[in-house]
Amino acid sequence: MNCRHNDELEHFVTEAKKVTVKGKVASYIPALAEQSGDDLSVAVYYTDGTCLSAGDVKEVFTLQSISKVLALALVLMEHGPEKVFHFVGKEPTGDPFNSIIKLETVNPGKPLNPMINAGALVVTSMMKGSTSSERIGRLLEFVRALANNRSISVCKKVAESEFQTSMVNRAMCYYMKEHGIFQAEVEDVMDLYTKQCAIEMNSLDLAKIGCVFALNGKHPETGEQLIPKDIARICKTFMVTCGMYNASGEFAIKIGIPAKSGVSGGIMGLVPYSFGIGIFGPALDEKGNSIAGIRLLELLSENYSLSIF
Ligand code: GLN
Repeated sequence: MNCRHNDELEHFVTEAKKVTVKGKVASYIPALAEQSGDDLSVAVYYTDGTCLSAGDVKEVFTLQSISKVLALALVLMEHGPEKVFHFVGKEPTGDPFNSIIKLETVNPGKPLNPMINAGALVVTSMMKGSTSSERIGRLLEFVRALANNRSISVCKKVAESEFQTSMVNRAMCYYMKEHGIFQAEVEDVMDLYTKQCAIEMNSLDLAKIGCVFALNGKHPETGEQLIPKDIARICKTFMVTCGMYNASGEFAIKIGIPAKSGVSGGIMGLVPYSFGIGIFGPALDEKGNSIAGIRLLELLSENYSLSIF
């Protein structure tokens, strides 16, 4: 894809990069600890197909929690909102993304929303397909269509690394299974979930997917309606209320755009009807969001009045 380097954007990247020293690369998934903490790149993909970038936008990273929005879109398309929201709620938690506490204290077994790990695991457990490889194949096809890039695939090393270590996610799965929230085998769900989180792309691909959401599910290049409008709207709303984990409220006030982050340091954002943004900056703040990515969005939002509110 043709994406032009932009000096103004580079200036903001240089400024935002200064905060990377205060952040830390995720290490609870061992393979992610190998990422370099001082990286920062951004791509902005406009609805007319033009694209601006700064930093090394060719660098690939895994989606991690950003995949939760894409899996949600697919599962909502497969089952419809009524069925999906029977098993997962629509409310923010105010807790860290991997917290287990409200599974017991609120609506036992039913996670509060699909952007926290518990809720995302339920969504993943609902994905259609008779085998694990068929399911990840369907999700990959969907993600490739969203990015209009056939070469997107799963990083086996990161998937394997998370699969070997993800005991809290397993614990949540067993707890929810006990409460009848899903019937699937926990190891099958974990296999699919860790592969889903390990889908790998660069910030250009991510910006383009953001742009599909900015256009209510319509692809900016192909014109194809890949996600029905009402489902794109649900996904964007979750991005605003829960997309940045338990920093979503502050993010909405300071930056004010739908966005979803992942612990690899990716952030996908969008400004409705204007553009999608893809950011990669692996050093994270204490809530698990890209520290320089947030700073960069703050600078962009201030300078270009991006807030939708
Ligand atoms: N795969 C990660 C996990 O389940 C995703 C979390 C995230 O990006 N916040 O822990």
